[in-house]
Amino acid sequence: MINENSYREICSYCKDHNVTLVAVSKTKPVSDIQQLYGMGQRVFGENKVQEILEKCGQLPDDIEWHLIGHLQTNKVKQILPYVGLIHSVDSLHLMQEIEQQAQKLQKKIQVLLQLKIAQEDTKYGLDENELTEILKKVANDNYGHIEVRGLMGMASFTESETQVRAEFSTLKQKFDEIKRQGLVNLGRFDILSMGMSGDFQIAIEEGSNMIRVGSLIFGER
Ligand SMILES: *Cc1c(COP(=O)(O)O)cnc(C)c1O
Repeated sequence: MINENSYREICSYCKDHNVTLVAVSKTKPVSDIQQLYGMGQRVFGENKVQEILEKCGQLPDDIEWHLIGHLQTNKVKQILPYVGLIHSVDSLHLMQEIEQQAQKLQKKIQVLLQLKIAQEDTKYGLDENELTEILKKVANDNYGHIEVRGLMGMASFTESETQVRAEFSTLKQKFDEIKRQGLVNLGRFDILSMGMSGDFQIAIEEGSNMIRVGSLIFGER
């Protein structure tokens, strides 16, 4: 069962702020996704390749599936035909594998680069140097089958709003800086994915235009 009122509230908040809502349905049954689909939701996020593959065949074709969790290189080939946006590109190695497999598919893959902004060291993500390295390679047109649409980040899991805000603000500054540089081959570079159930209002205040919300809509996992 989903929380319809909560969904409606988040939806209208997103509309007012021009933000895309990714409904994070990981671990939740297909019936919940159907219910939300019935209310108009089309963009769903999952953190596991296997779960997208299992669910997408049982659901309407016009759902846009986003992969928001860490992607292993050996799963790239399987997921590319089904995924609308990969939020979690976190290494050059992964970029190379995506490029190779996308070439075979003759498909342009939409990705975000995941930056590590949290204090905790459990979270995946690129550091500043790795980000610079990837952007350099992209500018040299090594990735003709990838469109880098923007950045993704997760704030620390903390009670401190000050810290969360500062981390989001850091990501927004990086996003703006890259946009300003106007690197060639970067693509539209128009998506800043930050904010989850506990912190999406702060994220939007700090400049997010895509939020990934699970438990507020689908209930605790
Ligand atoms: C699970 C998850 C979310 C959603 O988390 P909630 O707190 O349930 O909203 C968002 N982003 C990522 C990367 C996730 O893994």
